[in-house]
Amino acid sequence: MIAEILAVGTEILLGDIINTNAQYLAKELASLGISVYHQSVVGDNGERLKAALNLALSRADLVITTGGLGPTKDDLTKEFASEYFNKKLILDEDSLNAIKYYFKKMNIEINEGNKKQAYFPEGSTILKNDYGTAPGCIIDGNDKIVVLLPGPPREMKPMFENYVIPYLMKYQQGVLVSKVLRICGIGEGIMAERIGHIIDAQNNPTVAPYAKQNEAILRITAKADNEEEALNLIQPMEKDIRDILGEHVYGVGETSLEEEVGKVLIKNNLTISTAESCTGGLLAGRLINYPGISSVFMEGAITYSDEAKMRSVGVKKETLEAYGAVSSEVAAEMAEGIAKVAGTDIGISTTGIAGPGGATKDKPVGLVYIGLYINGSVKTKELNIPGDRQKVRDRSVTTAIDWLRRELNRL
Ligand code: ATP
Ligand code: MG
Repeated sequence: MIAEILAVGTEILLGDIINTNAQYLAKELASLGISVYHQSVVGDNGERLKAALNLALSRADLVITTGGLGPTKDDLTKEFASEYFNKKLILDEDSLNAIKYYFKKMNIEINEGNKKQAYFPEGSTILKNDYGTAPGCIIDGNDKIVVLLPGPPREMKPMFENYVIPYLMKYQQGVLVSKVLRICGIGEGIMAERIGHIIDAQNNPTVAPYAKQNEAILRITAKADNEEEALNLIQPMEKDIRDILGEHVYGVGETSLEEEVGKVLIKNNLTISTAESCTGGLLAGRLINYPGISSVFMEGAITYSDEAKMRSVGVKKETLEAYGAVSSEVAAEMAEGIAKVAGTDIGISTTGIAGPGGATKDKPVGLVYIGLYINGSVKTKELNIPGDRQKVRDRSVTTAIDWLRRELNRL
């Protein structure tokens, strides 16, 4: 099933509010295995709304709109949608009673605008609003489904979860089972390119990529009569993806890089320590996110100044003078130095220019070196990370942990 999200509201077009509804719905639909190929935004304008609906229905089986169901004159989504389908708006007594009850409870006088919220296109399925007055509805016909949801996220989300998902599930029949592959160390674009033929040929199971901070997720979703059958459908696609992406796939389901690395360290009884400059403790913090790490994580030093690098982790003055603090030589001495000081099997270090200042002619912002002392020898990696200070620091940490993960695989 292909879906399209259509947000209605001039406020969104003007940039006064952020279209978080579309973000929420897109994620939810992906997890249901429903592909979203387009999203759009249209103002509170009848002609343009109808044109947008028309376009959406020409390329999708399911169109979900949000906004414009309220009591005011500019809330006209339902009116235009029913016009589009050539359906009369008819009064739903239950909804009217619910609205009256809501107003009575709030001690507010009901007006004509509120009553208009109890009218729905003939034959539609009404969606109760448990958190406000404007009910939503589903217009189902001619192989196309249009779902109209209210704009306020706190009304829209529970309506979607409680009424729309069950409706769509019924429509889908059987069970939907998803498996999430977690991917790191490959850009989302390159990943999409490499598995492009799988994405293009997808049917059942479907595969939906999405990017997380410095990582990517591939959600494989299969529809079948039961869970076992669904898993059997997922298996060959998962294998194809793993064959292509190899070591980039670091985990399945609810996990994290630090969790996967932490487990391997604990299993092999390998101790670790960190010496950080530009990441200022973020690396240690990420590793320590994983509960249980205490049996292997021994020490983290933040050696920001040259002085601290010499005093705490034994970086040599000559090395700093010859190569500068941001160099592979210093990263190497930091990694080996902290491992010696802390008495650990592994030492890992970062040194770099996070910006915005501090760049020189040969050392631009985003230049970062990671040092890794493991198995008795030290290696370094040079990174050139685009983006602002926070991005440079976060990406350095992710890359460092990912590199450690790959090296651990080789032990
Ligand atoms: P109401 O009954 O509150 O008028 P409505 O269904 O008519 O609800 P709108 O009038 O379009 O919805 O929007 C009401 C409010 O809901 C907006 O002011 C905004 O705070 C929020 N909202 C609307 N659309 C979105 C969206 N796409 N993403 C996030 N918030 C939204
Ligand atoms: Mg409104």
